[in-house]
Formats: sequence, C-alpha cells, structure tokens
Amino acid sequence: MALIRLNEIAHSYLAKPQGPSDYALKRIHNEWEDGGAYALLGPSGCGKTTLLNIISGLLTPSEGRVLYDGQDVTDLPPEKRNIAQVFQFPVLYDIMTVYDNLAFPLRNRRVATNEIRQRVHDVAELLDLTPFLKKKAAGLSADAKQKISLGRGLVRSDVAAILFDEPLTVIDPHLKWQLRRKLKEIHEQLKLTLVYVTHDQVEAMTFAEKVVVMIEGEIVQIGTPQELFESPAHTFVGYFIGSPGMNFLPCTIEGRSARVNGTAIRLDAATASLGKQAAGEIQLGIRPMYLQVHDHPVDDSVSAAVTLVEDQGSCKIITLAMGNQVLRARVPEDHPVPVEKAWLVFPPDWTKLYADGRLLR
Ligand code: ATP
Repeated sequence: MALIRLNEIAHSYLAKPQGPSDYALKRIHNEWEDGGAYALLGPSGCGKTTLLNIISGLLTPSEGRVLYDGQDVTDLPPEKRNIAQVFQFPVLYDIMTVYDNLAFPLRNRRVATNEIRQRVHDVAELLDLTPFLKKKAAGLSADAKQKISLGRGLVRSDVAAILFDEPLTVIDPHLKWQLRRKLKEIHEQLKLTLVYVTHDQVEAMTFAEKVVVMIEGEIVQIGTPQELFESPAHTFVGYFIGSPGMNFLPCTIEGRSARVNGTAIRLDAATASLGKQAAGEIQLGIRPMYLQVHDHPVDDSVSAAVTLVEDQGSCKIITLAMGNQVLRARVPEDHPVPVEKAWLVFPPDWTKLYADGRLLR
C-alpha cells in the first residue's frame, strides 16, 4: 500500500485551455494516506473520473505531478503503478471459471500456486463466492460477475491502491448495502488504500473513513462523514449531504444578529464578528435537525409560518416560511407540530455563516 500525493494537479481536455472554465480539474493538491478508505463524491461532471484516471495512470495531467510513496509516477501507465481497478461494469473472462478469473491477476505475476490457492479461497470467502468457484463466469448474474471483478481487485496483497469507479451501479439495490458493508469490513481487515468514486452520498458515507467532496473540478472539503454533516465547508456540501439538505438564508449582519427578511437571528459573538468582516454574499446555514420548533414563543425565538408537514415514519419534516424564505425542520415523530404559526430557535452553536458559499464559522 502507498501514500499517494497529488502535487498541484490540473487537467484540461483541450490542447490550448484559455481560462479556468476550460479545466476539468482546476487545482488539486492533497495526500491520500496509506491504508485510508476514501470516497470521491460529487455531482455528474465535477471531475471524479478524471481525478481517478490521473491517480491510476489512465490519464496524464496537463499540470502537476503524482507521487506514490515519494516516487514520481506521473508518466507511468496503470500497469507500472501496481494498482488494481474496479470499473462500473464487470471486467472478467466469461469462458473461465470463477476460480481462474480470481487467480488470473496472481498467475500473471507468477505468484506460487499454493499462495494463489490460499488468496483465491480467502477472497471468495469474503465475497461469498465459494459455492461458485468451479462455475463458468458466463452463466452468472450481473451481481455475481461484479463481485468477481471486486475479487480480482482484492486478490493481490501487494497493490499500492485499489481504485473503484462507481462499482455498485449494476448491483441490485438490496445487495448494494450488503456489498458496501462487505467492502468496509474488508478494508478494516486488510487496511488497503481504497479510493471509491460515487455520486451517491449514502454510499460515500457508509463506505469511507474520509469523504472527498468535489464540485466543478475542485475539492471543496475532505472530512469524516460526521465533519461533513456538522460543519459543511461549502454550501454545496450542506445541500448535497443530509436529507433534507441544509437550510441557507441570505442575510446581513447587524451587531450580534443575522437579519433575514427583517427578522433578527442571534449568533454567537465570534460568528457575528467574522460575518461583519466578510465580503461577498452572506448566507446563514442551519441543518433541519438542529432547528428547534415550538408552538409558543420562547427566549430568542423568531416566528415563521408552517406551510407543510410530512410524516416520514420515524420523523416529521416541517416546511416553514419566513417572509419569502423557505426552510425545513426535522423533528422527532412525537414532537408537537404547531398549526399555521411556529416559533423557531436557531441554536448559535449550530448556526453557521457562509460568504460566497464558503464557511466562515
Ligand atoms: P460522472 O459522475 O458523470 O462520471 P465525473 O464527476 O466523473 O462525472 P468527469 O467524467 O471526470 O466527471 O468529467 C469532468 C469534465 O470533463 C466534464 O465536463 C466532462 O464533460 C469532461 N470530460 C470528461 N472526459 C472527457 C474527454 N475524454 N474529453 C473531453 N472532455 C471530457
């Protein structure tokens, strides 16, 4: 396994890029720790596959260097980088048995027969493929075939990293959860460096120790699922992670308060002070689960109109309006829901400010 360093990487698919919008990756400068499990998360077109292909060597970046354990591999093709890759669709030999498919990457590297047998049986066991070892891959379901592809990625013990590009796309929804858990378990056992591309926040949050969130060719935050949830570094992370997404309200800062449509919402002193100094468009952000909803006025509460209540079984989502600003609160199932008018408390610890989309505090 290896520590992977991306040094000032930028990439454009154009021969002569004119400006930032011509770059699929704008500036990526970070490290992927040895043995870490990372999910690369972001909407379609944000540059996830481009970045993964630069890490694997399928693509040479227009600018910057890729280092594996300090060694510059920027100009090396994938086969010289000692990595395993698992793609969206199964890559295997239909006419071979499951055993031979799993053994192939090891035979190719002239690993001893005894060791091959051991590794293939271990990986088959991990992925519940043991009953299929003697069967031809051709007759198996799409799920089983993709498990073989995963197995071919996992079977080598000497790889620098395993790179996954949306590997569960073809998997049946009820099996997806099982396989995500499986990958997490495998990572805990084998401590492999894993980089996993997905646009599904649930997949990223259940699989990864660290989630790398990208938008428009940039990494906007790298954090644990809890850090992304509690302190989104960018309004996009707030929207994208959590259901419903974070509330964002345009505001101005006056003294210790944020003013939203004429209503003053109390902030903590340090947050208000940063907001006052900041340039750009200021927004207040709060997660629906941290917004407190009362059916009567309480200290520091502000009023809002109740426009919709959705019962989701384990909780209720209340949609509220403060003038023309709409926001959502998530309350426990048994929480009393006000009729028409509610009083909201924005706990200062959970009330964040953003300037031009970036977290101030
Ligand atoms: P998706 O989730 O849809 O796969 P992604 O986040 O992986 O998207 P990329 O495939 O890396 O995004 O694409 C990033 C940008 O680069 C997009 O604007 C895309 O249109 C562009 N792009 C990707 N591959 C090429 C290519 N071979 N030639 C030209 N432009 C490309």
